[in-house]
Amino acid sequence: MPIAKKKAVANCLLAALPRKDYRQLIDDMEQVVLTYGDVLYEPGEQIKHVYFPNDSLVSLLTLVDRHQALEVGLVGREGVVGIPLALEINISPVRALVQGTGTAMRMNAASFLKQLRQSHALTRELHRYTYSLMTQITQTAACNRFHVIEARLARWLLMTHDRVRSGSFRLTQEFLSQMLGVRRVGVTKAARTLQQDGLISYSRGNIAILDRKGLEAACCSCYEIVRDMHEAV
Ligand SMILES: [Zn+2]
Repeated sequence: MPIAKKKAVANCLLAALPRKDYRQLIDDMEQVVLTYGDVLYEPGEQIKHVYFPNDSLVSLLTLVDRHQALEVGLVGREGVVGIPLALEINISPVRALVQGTGTAMRMNAASFLKQLRQSHALTRELHRYTYSLMTQITQTAACNRFHVIEARLARWLLMTHDRVRSGSFRLTQEFLSQMLGVRRVGVTKAARTLQQDGLISYSRGNIAILDRKGLEAACCSCYEIVRDMHEAV
């Protein structure tokens, strides 16, 4: 994994720490580039590093019957990849797949555990984020079962937009079908509907959000529920 040239740290969890704690933490970190398609963890594997995304985006996928993958969580600048380690468990239950190229602050597991014991502020932020991620995973389970594909796709696009803060991103149909747990034909149909309504443009794996307000109206209530719970804690 390439080491990035030093850029400003844009991760919100790190930014919320008191200056002293932040400085201590940053000394043990390196900025790396996460590239679309990189796998950071596989289920059952040891977690060697935690990642605090700046402008990168990471999907948490659960594997079913060995070949089917379904997204259960999405992590960007608001959080951290490697939450089991914050609970002192060093095995990942999910696959962590880079969904959007960008940088992240990386720290090895031993340093992270050491910092965790030294910084109450870090522990508190990780508890808050763990709660927020639990909310997201719980809501996603219900969303996959009860809401139509168009509304789920709109929700996913809004969540991505919030995290990468860019109105356009690259997305293949294969990834989208994993994220939404539907077949590719279903993804194509849903994207076409949103496109016909003038909310997005979608061609050759590139999606651009054209009408954010319209997408908010088209998505299911899960988007707001998860966002509000995250902001409330
Ligand atoms: Zn939903």
